Amino acid sequence: MGTVHIVGAGLAGLSAAVRLTEAGRRVVLYEGAPQAGGRCRSFHDAALDRMVDNGSHLALSGNRSLLGYLERVGASDALTELRPAAFPFLDLGNGERWCLRPGGLWLFDTARRVPGSRPADYLAALRTLTAGPGASVADALPPGGPLYERLWRPLAVSVMNGAPERVSARLFGAVLRETLLRGEAACRPLFAEKGLSAALVEPAVAWLTRHGAELRTGARVDGLERAGERVAALSVDGERIALGSDDAVVLAVPAWIAGRLLPEAVPISANGRAIVNAHFRLPAPIDLPGGLPFLGLVGGTADWLFRRGDVLSVTVSDADALATLPADAVAATLWRDVARALGTPGAALPPHRIIKERRATPDQSPVHAANRPGPQTALKNLVLAGDWTKMGLPATLEGAVRSGEIAAQAVLTAGITTFSRLGLFPAFTLPRRGPI
Ligand SMILES: Cc1cc2nc3c(=O)[nH]c(=O)nc-3n(C[C@H](O)[C@H](O)[C@H](O)COP(=O)(O)OP(=O)(O)OC[C@H]3O[C@@H](n4cnc5c(N)ncnc54)[C@H](O)[C@@H]3O)c2cc1C
Repeated sequence: MGTVHIVGAGLAGLSAAVRLTEAGRRVVLYEGAPQAGGRCRSFHDAALDRMVDNGSHLALSGNRSLLGYLERVGASDALTELRPAAFPFLDLGNGERWCLRPGGLWLFDTARRVPGSRPADYLAALRTLTAGPGASVADALPPGGPLYERLWRPLAVSVMNGAPERVSARLFGAVLRETLLRGEAACRPLFAEKGLSAALVEPAVAWLTRHGAELRTGARVDGLERAGERVAALSVDGERIALGSDDAVVLAVPAWIAGRLLPEAVPISANGRAIVNAHFRLPAPIDLPGGLPFLGLVGGTADWLFRRGDVLSVTVSDADALATLPADAVAATLWRDVARALGTPGAALPPHRIIKERRATPDQSPVHAANRPGPQTALKNLVLAGDWTKMGLPATLEGAVRSGEIAAQAVLTAGITTFSRLGLFPAFTLPRRGPI
């Protein structure tokens, strides 16, 4: 059996690597950055003297591919689950607070719903499940009504990283179908309390190393050499790495890099949307209003606050405009929201670090969603993976892991003809795929 060369060690590449290694394939991962993790990583910030994440990430207990990936690498306890599910919110405009507590007969309990909403208002979510491929979230869930500004809009912006008018209703509906609509047990928030790398990346890298896979960091693939319908060699920082006749490639880089390496396989534009994060180091740990480790905000610039020890992190999605401002201006704007949320308006700006991920997620408009490529390409020994490929979900941790699994299965399926006669073909089952 040949080697599988995986380009990119983000969650998509790592999840493909785990599946392929598990299936007995030899795997080599090439990662251009000095560390694995891609858009989901932690680093030590010297100014704050703390480990911080490139951006606070929230997963949900319905993310079964992500949880399966963690289980496989022996890290089932890596994420902390908030049980029962609860989503606290604060309106910065009028100070009103509420906590969404899905589960059981929650829609019939005013204390567990958005203030002023009625049970029937929530049924509108079902419209995203039957939305046409061209529909945006705002087409399915139009502005107006008590839930738009306080639930659908904040949810769509944070899940899809784009305004409801611009992002695909189908992709959003796929998330609702796998989480909120499956009940409380599927929508418990999951946090990486010790950081993204410690929870989601390092356990996989350790598992892969233990099982014989090779991770080459600082190894940028800058070209694919073709011979007919196959990739004959990779160029890694200019060095030619020849592929054997049984070797395969999983290209698990972001859309904008894949578009450069293999333009014909990426029929979607390379645009991405920004997410801005601010990390504030406080003099001491604090409790957020609502008493939970995170808090949703409406009526300001900040979208979410996350508390980890004495570091308070702010996330702003769909943040292209904010990302054009200088870091000091971003910090001042976001700190104003934080100080108001904490009931200390005018509090002095603490030490901070601003991280602008200008291409945090790919374009998730209906047009792009409908044109996502599947794993197969015209090159017989190369498949695609990544949060921008066709796997039925938006660009999220869950989507990235699932895309890696789909790519791994495509590699293994392609090997059927070569290996089935020898009884070597290993198979695994994928979760049911969505409509996209
Ligand atoms: C700030 C921020 C907040 C987010 N919040 C959430 C959240 O709360 N919940 C959620 O579910 N998702 C969230 N996401 C989305 C999630 O992080 C991504 O969808 C996911 O990490 C993408 O994984 P990937 O493997 O597809 O791509 P990537 O993580 O981008 O991995 C691709 C890898 O390829 C490497 N690479 C690129 N070019 C080359 C090359 N030429 N040669 C070799 N290697 C190369 C890159 O360095 C990278 O490591 C967030 C993203 C960001 C940026």
